[in-house]
Amino acid sequence: MTEQIHLAILGSTGSIGTQALEVVRAHRTEFQIDLLTAHSNADLLIQQALEFNPNTVVIADVAKLQLVKDALLPAGIKVFGGNQSIEQLVQMESIDTVLTAIVGYAGLASTLSAIRAGKQIALANKETLVVAGKLVTDLAREKGVNIYPVDSEHSAIFQCLTGEFQNPIEKIYLTASGGPFRGKTRDALATVTKQQALKHPNWSMGAKVTIDSATLMNKGLEVIEAKWLFHLKPAQIEVVVHPQSIVHSLVQFNDGSIKAQLGLPDMKLPIQYALTYPRRLTTTFKRFNFADYPSLTFEQPDRATFRCLDLAYEAMDKGGNMACILNAANEVAVEAFLNDRIKFLSIAALIEKCMQTLTFINAPSYEDYVNTDQETRKFAQTLVPTI
Ligand code: NDP
Ligand code: MG
Repeated sequence: MTEQIHLAILGSTGSIGTQALEVVRAHRTEFQIDLLTAHSNADLLIQQALEFNPNTVVIADVAKLQLVKDALLPAGIKVFGGNQSIEQLVQMESIDTVLTAIVGYAGLASTLSAIRAGKQIALANKETLVVAGKLVTDLAREKGVNIYPVDSEHSAIFQCLTGEFQNPIEKIYLTASGGPFRGKTRDALATVTKQQALKHPNWSMGAKVTIDSATLMNKGLEVIEAKWLFHLKPAQIEVVVHPQSIVHSLVQFNDGSIKAQLGLPDMKLPIQYALTYPRRLTTTFKRFNFADYPSLTFEQPDRATFRCLDLAYEAMDKGGNMACILNAANEVAVEAFLNDRIKFLSIAALIEKCMQTLTFINAPSYEDYVNTDQETRKFAQTLVPTI
């Protein structure tokens, strides 16, 4: 038997975090959980800790710290509070692999900290690479750390590349479901509600990534994520809409051959592969059946209607801190939309205004990213009441 993989799951109470724990539950002998972290969902964190018996847990929201301590200290589980504790504890000696499943910019510091300590990364938090892709991938190279993609499209590309690492990629095709509003006109989108936006046709995910899927910003963020993960030029990354979400992405090699990875949409598969690569563990996940899918279809994304995709390409082309501006503006816009403060179409408008206004920095340092994120959020908030 191979040695147990010692895991830290950052964001264990979220959509990815809970599915990762399902993977662990199905393969108890393969994994040991060393660290679980949550933002404020103390009840679920406590329940998870009592089941999986980690060495340590962190609750970022310190108002909940005492509650978690009261529940877990008697069980011999160490309990800490605050985001800085996540950054420190992710470096614990015993941890082999860190699953980064915190949502948004908030995941950047702990991911960098884990890489600095030489931990292998299973990366769900795509915003980390969007905001600071160069910094993160340079540090990973320096530390000899592998970043294994959890995002289903990037896992598909990675699976297609296995055994092909010496062969040049001509281009990749990232598939997109098109989200709940595929086929809608701008006029129709003007009045869509958050309840409609939160109904993804094929995937059940956290609120932020679900709204990103409805605007196609999710695909834009994934284009930037792919550039950094696979060292691609922007012209090598194409998006194709595939409403059935069966083909998870494709790679075209220099001889014109295309490889694709297929399967029913289930995030547990890419999560598990990122944790156990190069091994594939046997699963009981529902299998794909051709009879259920007599046709798999593909179409061009409607970039004029779903402008976030082009904004992301623009940010990637520009480089520097532009994708950091894009990401921060998007996080503010999505939250404002979820709080009924702006309309669906204003999400792209707000992001574009931020990209036009904030100071561009060509070769940002970590501090520059931190400042850019803060300043963009501040400016974006001023736009919310009027946009
Ligand atoms: P969720 O919103 O479901 O979960 C987010 C997790 O992060 C929760 O555990 C939450 O804690 C924690 N968290 C949130 N904010 C903070 C913070 N400021 N500090 C510390 N912890 C925090 O998100 P998802 O699981 O959907 O997504 C996680 C990441 O994975 C995102 O980057 C997303 O883009 C990516 N991803 C998700 C997919 C999916 O299917 N869900 C697919 C592909 C990528 P609490 O519960 O206490 O609030
Ligand atoms: Mg994805």
